[in-house]
Amino acid sequence: MSTSVPASAFISVTGARENNLRDVSLTIPKRAITAFVGVSGSGKSSLVFDTIAAEAQRQLNETFSAFVRGFLPKLGQPDADLIEDLSTAIVVDQKRLGGGSRSTLGTVSDINPLLRLLFSRRSVPYVGPGFDFSFNLPGGMCPGCAGIGRQVRLDHAKMFDRAKSLNEGAILHRDFAVDSWYWHVYAQSGKFDNDLPLAEYTDEEWQLLLWGADEKVALATTGRKTLNMDLEGVEAKFNRLFVAADGEGTSDRKKETLARFTTSVRCPDCGGTRLAQAQRTATVGGHTLPGICALDLASLHALLPSLSDAEVAPIVDEAVERIGALVDMGLGYLTLDRETSTLSGGESQRIKMVRHLGSALVDVMYIFDEPTIGLHPRDVGRMNALMARLRDKGNTVLVVEHDTDVITAADHVVELGPRAGSDGGRIVYQGDVAGLRGSGTLTGEFLHRPITAKAQVRTPTGTLRVTGATANNLRGFDLDVPLGVLVAVTGVAGSGKSTLVREVLVPQHPETIVVDQSAVATSIRSTPATWTGVMDPIRKFYAARTGTKPALFSFNSAGACPTCKGLGVVYSDLSYLDGVRSTCTDCEGRRYTDEVLALTVDGLSISDALDLTAAKAVEFFDQRDVRKRLSAVVDVGLGYLTLGQPLSTLSGGECQRLKLAGRLHEEGPADRSGVYVLDEPTTGLHMSDCGHLLALLDRLVDGGSSVIVVEHNLDVVAHADHVIDLGPDGGDGGGSVVFTGTPAELVGATGSFTGEHLARHVA
Ligand code: ADP
Ligand code: ADP
Ligand code: ZN
Ligand code: ZN
Repeated sequence: MSTSVPASAFISVTGARENNLRDVSLTIPKRAITAFVGVSGSGKSSLVFDTIAAEAQRQLNETFSAFVRGFLPKLGQPDADLIEDLSTAIVVDQKRLGGGSRSTLGTVSDINPLLRLLFSRRSVPYVGPGFDFSFNLPGGMCPGCAGIGRQVRLDHAKMFDRAKSLNEGAILHRDFAVDSWYWHVYAQSGKFDNDLPLAEYTDEEWQLLLWGADEKVALATTGRKTLNMDLEGVEAKFNRLFVAADGEGTSDRKKETLARFTTSVRCPDCGGTRLAQAQRTATVGGHTLPGICALDLASLHALLPSLSDAEVAPIVDEAVERIGALVDMGLGYLTLDRETSTLSGGESQRIKMVRHLGSALVDVMYIFDEPTIGLHPRDVGRMNALMARLRDKGNTVLVVEHDTDVITAADHVVELGPRAGSDGGRIVYQGDVAGLRGSGTLTGEFLHRPITAKAQVRTPTGTLRVTGATANNLRGFDLDVPLGVLVAVTGVAGSGKSTLVREVLVPQHPETIVVDQSAVATSIRSTPATWTGVMDPIRKFYAARTGTKPALFSFNSAGACPTCKGLGVVYSDLSYLDGVRSTCTDCEGRRYTDEVLALTVDGLSISDALDLTAAKAVEFFDQRDVRKRLSAVVDVGLGYLTLGQPLSTLSGGECQRLKLAGRLHEEGPADRSGVYVLDEPTTGLHMSDCGHLLALLDRLVDGGSSVIVVEHNLDVVAHADHVIDLGPDGGDGGGSVVFTGTPAELVGATGSFTGEHLARHVA
């Protein structure tokens, strides 16, 4: 029922009510950059993703034929009166690029095909047409590893308990268990002392057990004639059954076996370059293809033009342009051979942005979710320029952000608030940035507030020694990290911060407590109530107050709605698209049967209680334990979460803060020596909430703990007692400690991009 009307200059939304939105109506200028701001939980995602992007996707699906639609999820209409004049939405989020081991930065950025063309035209010696240079095609792949660059090997330490004998079950895989068919082949071979620990085998016996021999073993079987079996070694059999069979259609059991009993080593044939002999040794201008793919993008950008000539110029120019765009996004430290599965969420998002820049689409609505995550302030300007280029091509850009430099560069700002959860969900400001400043809103207030570098720093109580830091790009330094203080590890993206913390410091000091951003949900039933452990006491509370049994309020009892089993929502399980959630039509989202819902305490049913925010629930429940656990949730700035909200709806930053709350509650004041390690804890946090987070970290430190944060947020850096700045640049240009000292000393420190940027923001 589409009618032909002139294209509007605005997107208009009327009466939006998703999650906490209070009948929000607004218009958003097209062909402009609009920043959506407001405290965490104010409703930004509810408006931008759950309403605008969801409706755009639904409208797009409507345009398909009934037949195609049959294969698409039935997307519910977002809760809004009217949403008009949308363009096609492209959501560029933090979801990792993923992809298997065949997916590298070179393949996803479409730069590899260009390099293959270059090599097919110009390589010495001539190897063959372009696709012969692909490690994903039979002609180009290394036969030793089928183009993966690594070989999977049986890990002897995982497969054998060498302190045991065959009779004691020295072979750990269950297919080889004592008395199993495979086990009998070795035990009855007469080649081994079945009671001798494997550790005491001679070299010959060990090799025989691993690789077998070209002989038969006569196996006595109960009541039948003997069977002649090959004496196939454990490793040979394992390779045949599990390793060689790996690939498409491998069963989950095999995959699990592979993960549990193997280790992967760089392919000895191709040295990890994935290419067949001829392809990996051919050169252009003295450079091999693997050599080029191992160069950091910044160096490659400088090198490529020198390999060009009139015939290949169009190919080389195109590659140079794409690489340049990646360098512009602060990714000049990456290499084309980097597997996409090892890229961070922020890096993935920036690569996706570059991919879209190369596309010819116009009048598209690009939606970005906190694109500055993981980005050093130095590189935020370049990202703003990229969004401006998308806009100037005639597209609409919507960006959810907390970073002041991004907000300041937007054409239009929409602020949701005034606070979080039920205290938010309204539009408190819309207009240009200049107007935001004097608007009296939280964002307006914080926008141009200068930063103060901490003057009075704490005195360390000890040190954590880090030695021989060589992982990834780290240059082999030793480092003393002070204890009993707040330490910030800083540096541009790719300088080596995560490597230092995750691959060196934490493994050298297993006593550290890592609080990361990975998902906390263990099942679709996980909610703040189950996760913090208050669900049981809440059931008891309801039972005691209503004179019933706690079991009545449990999800697997007769008290729960039978249709959704107490979830309030039903999930359509779609294997090829993200699962779709819709409110349970039986209980209308109320989770329980009418009988249970009739049991109320102070007018609230158990369903109403689960709809309380953590902040309100602290007051409602009178049990000390419940209050203590929920207070910790409020303390980390998540008081706006409702008790029954699925944890799958939480962002990475929220997950991290929830885990921190769990830690705070568990450790209590008794534990005074924990070393906490946090990666960008300000992710998703409004500048007004940063103060709360810092207060929380201060409390931990004042209680005797040590806190080490990897951060870009200058508020946090300025508030630290000690800063370790890595760099100077990313990748090969980084990996050194360029500064250690107090924030005040860091201001304007020479050779430190962090120092330079701090100097610009301090009062
Ligand atoms: P923001 O993006 O500004 O951080 P959100 O739009 O994510 O805020 O959240 C707004 C409010 O809606 C918060 O109180 C949040 O807890 C709640 N909320 C978000 N998603 C869901 C959901 N799927 N179910 C229930 N409540 C939700
Ligand atoms: P930061 O945390 O400062 O952004 P990282 O520690 O993630 O930096 O990266 C430091 C360097 O190590 C970069 O050149 C990056 O590309 C490289 N690197 C990080 N992780 C991996 C990995 N899994 N495989 C190969 N290189 C990596
Ligand atoms: Zn190989
Ligand atoms: Zn239901």
